Amino acid sequence: MIPYGRQAIDESDIEAVIEALRSDWLTTGPRVNEFEDAMASFTEASHAVAVNSGTAALHCAMHAIGIEPGDEVIVPAMTFVATANCVCYQGGTPVIADVCSETLLIDPEDVRKRITPRTKAVIAVDYAGQPADWDALRSIAKEHGLVLVADGCHALGATDRDRSVGRLADMTTFSFHPVKHITTCEGGMIVTEKSDWADSMRRFRNHGMTTDGRQREEGRGWQYDVPGPGYNYRLSDIQCALGSSQLARLPGWLAHRRAAASKYAESLEDVSGINMLETRPDVQHAWHLLVVSVENSVHGMSRDTMFHELRKLGIGANVHYTPLTNLTRFSSFKGQCPVAEMMGEKILTLPLHQRITEDQIEYVVDSIRNVLLTKSVHGED
Ligand SMILES: *Cc1c(COP(=O)(O)O)cnc(C)c1O
Repeated sequence: MIPYGRQAIDESDIEAVIEALRSDWLTTGPRVNEFEDAMASFTEASHAVAVNSGTAALHCAMHAIGIEPGDEVIVPAMTFVATANCVCYQGGTPVIADVCSETLLIDPEDVRKRITPRTKAVIAVDYAGQPADWDALRSIAKEHGLVLVADGCHALGATDRDRSVGRLADMTTFSFHPVKHITTCEGGMIVTEKSDWADSMRRFRNHGMTTDGRQREEGRGWQYDVPGPGYNYRLSDIQCALGSSQLARLPGWLAHRRAAASKYAESLEDVSGINMLETRPDVQHAWHLLVVSVENSVHGMSRDTMFHELRKLGIGANVHYTPLTNLTRFSSFKGQCPVAEMMGEKILTLPLHQRITEDQIEYVVDSIRNVLLTKSVHGED
């Protein structure tokens, strides 16, 4: 099976992990700071806080900006469920907004319509790896006094003109799950310009404590206070060693993903009814996901049939995502995001990762062509 996404681990990663295992620190040691510093510098942000998942990163962000019961946070319909769940962790209410059909990025005009006196923030997802329309979101946020959070879990390494993902919103979260751009097995990071938010998240990831184990061990004494809530969301030194090692190879991987996406675009050009999403002007896409729409009205084949046929041919096609409004938990929003719900029937994720080859891409596109052809001869089953 050609997976839709997967990690790339080499000897330098293994060496880095072994070195961490042999060191004095397995968790909350110097490798955490090193990885945070490297991520801050890569994303051109002032502060980076490492945590043990992308979901924990979103939760830390919601706590840092003060989301509490009664508050509303606007999130896009086309995203992983964690983007909305994190609002609920704080007792807040996620309000689901529709997306643009060409990009599946949150629709700023729909965001505007969903603002109420209780709205505190917007979480926009840089879906598939390209930045959302942060200029439009920024002007709405200014008008209504909202905080902008980027769920950047797809978009590490993307830019909009000269600004990196990490600088486009007030706070940006990343995930290091193995399908993402770089991995720490499980892991996440938040980057921001605001030092008080960064300090708050450092406490929140460590039980709400004012000092961490290393600070107490290295001479500040045993005392600490717990001024507010917290969890154990720490990322270990072993994982941070892997993260730093992976991050060093990211520029090459981004180039590989971009070349692979161009190859897909070229090869799919003459396949009618299989359309790639659009890339916004002036953005450099990070290509976490290669998403196409399967246009049933053009060739008579449904997305689900195409999905099953490709799986039979050893192609790990996937779907990102079931729109939030179609999930039972958020069913009170059903019918309110027609674009996401319509696109949710058509979208298909094709394999794209750091090590995919041109031959594999040709095999995927030839397979799509053959499935469409066979279908037009034999009819859809
Ligand atoms: C992967 C992902 C998350 C969650 O990250 P985990 O590290 O799996 O917790 C959140 N939002 C989006 C958009 C993601 O792709």
